[in-house]
Amino acid sequence: MKLVAPSQMPLSADQLDVLRGMLEEQRAFRIDQLTELRQAVPQSPLGSNDPEILRSLRRAALAALRDVQGALWRMDDGIYGRCTSCHGPIPVEHLEVLPQSARCAACHRQPGV
Ligand SMILES: [Zn+2]
Repeated sequence: MKLVAPSQMPLSADQLDVLRGMLEEQRAFRIDQLTELRQAVPQSPLGSNDPEILRSLRRAALAALRDVQGALWRMDDGIYGRCTSCHGPIPVEHLEVLPQSARCAACHRQPGV
């Protein structure tokens, strides 16, 4: 594997712009979702506002928000698009599907890393 200096981004400025837009959209969506979940009043245990379901929805939304925010921070740090485990570039086709990806597909498949 070829090592690239951190200043040499594997992504073009245009690609970064598009990906940042996607991440910001997702962040806004998750924040809205969390606000709604906070306002949702737990009702009968069998209704759609089952407190257990609300809790797990909230956990999932928070985890997703954390991933998205982490990607935006990596972008600000200029390390976005690199695997946080092996530091190899993450293919742009992969980022276009999952812009919040922190690790390349190979590292992602390794359990417990
Ligand atoms: Zn990797």
